[in-house]
Amino acid sequence: MTVAKAIRIERPIRAWHLQEPAVKSDAGPVVDRLGRPLRELRISVTDRCNFRCVYCMPRSVYPRNFTFMKKEQLLDFDEITCAAEAFVALGVNKLRLTGGEPLLRPQLERLVERLAALRTPEGDVIDLAMTTNGSLLARKAVALRDAGLGRLTVSLDAVSDEVFRRMSDADYPVAKVLAGIDAALRVGFAPIKVNMVVKRGVNDGEIVPLARHVREHYGPAVALRFIEYMDVGESNHWKLDEVLPSIDVIALLQRHFSLERVVGARSGTAELWRHVDGCGEVGTISSVTAPFCGDCSRARLSSDGLLYTCLFSSQGANLRACLADEGSRDSSGKAALLQGAIRAAWQRRSDRYSELRASTGALPALRPHAQRVEMHYIGG
Ligand code: SAM
Ligand code: SF4
Ligand code: SF4
Repeated sequence: MTVAKAIRIERPIRAWHLQEPAVKSDAGPVVDRLGRPLRELRISVTDRCNFRCVYCMPRSVYPRNFTFMKKEQLLDFDEITCAAEAFVALGVNKLRLTGGEPLLRPQLERLVERLAALRTPEGDVIDLAMTTNGSLLARKAVALRDAGLGRLTVSLDAVSDEVFRRMSDADYPVAKVLAGIDAALRVGFAPIKVNMVVKRGVNDGEIVPLARHVREHYGPAVALRFIEYMDVGESNHWKLDEVLPSIDVIALLQRHFSLERVVGARSGTAELWRHVDGCGEVGTISSVTAPFCGDCSRARLSSDGLLYTCLFSSQGANLRACLADEGSRDSSGKAALLQGAIRAAWQRRSDRYSELRASTGALPALRPHAQRVEMHYIGG
């Protein structure tokens, strides 16, 4: 079954004019071959996770004794800060910590403190956010807030404990995540985003209960986002018929709530609807049925220091070599080297996987023997 036949594509795919890679590599704003600037960086701080979400790290591929990266392989906080500084110098003004589960990284608040102190070349504060599964949030909320974390996104795929456990395939009650959200709200993280990945036939029965729970318990303090299940990585054995298109999610919600489209409004990659009585908003992120590659200005840094320019990449640019302290290189030399490597990788970029998937009606081919990276490795 091809993508186009099975799912109506909701947004026209734009015609692109591919530009030659920029010859001059050390001046001006960093723009890729499709004219997109570099604005956002997602930083994966660990490839480990205490959940085994069926769409991300299925237990059959990631058993309890799975060998994750060793501590020595991970970038340390000096290296992550140094890399983030280089991205910020090149125009990035949004940083998001992710993983794996970022809160499994010991002392993460120390890293948050350092990233929160960064400023853009114009002297502006950085938008510093984190995506977490929420399981350790109740314990960490105060430290994260004190360290200067700006915004939080919590992944939550069900409000029923049974369905939540089916999705996360881990021995954690949903109540712990809900307690984490409560704790985060108490210390001032509002609005919090809550992301629900919808897998048809597994947790689609939770769309309305979760929307109701969020509306009744949190109102506008929590913004709910429904995410189409994506074909990221190789291990989830994605099938198109397991995707529930956003248009169906909204149709379902409209049968239960009075929602109106917020015309022209987008929040990041989400399209927005609001409860007409003012009790908050919901959004949809439609990477399969309405791809947004045209606006994609996001880079990803893996926990071992590789730079990926698309969620569906199979290869990353090695920043680790530039970060390594080679003694003779002073900090400004290291910064110049890093910025040059980032600039070169971004200027080579012509990624638009989701648009190709939608416009050709098939999953874009990879080079022989290439494997797409996994979500828990580069972060969502
Ligand atoms: N562990 C943290 C968490 O779950 O929030 C951060 C890392 S997780 C990889 C980041 C986001 O990616 C989560 O919101 C998760 O639901 C989403 N995600 C993972 N696999 C996905 C897939 N196949 N399709 C859509 N979203 C996915
Ligand atoms: Fe872990 Fe997040 Fe992946 Fe779930 S989505 S397995 S919580 S990294
Ligand atoms: Fe960006 Fe790649 Fe996703 Fe397109 S497919 S929106 S280029 S990450």
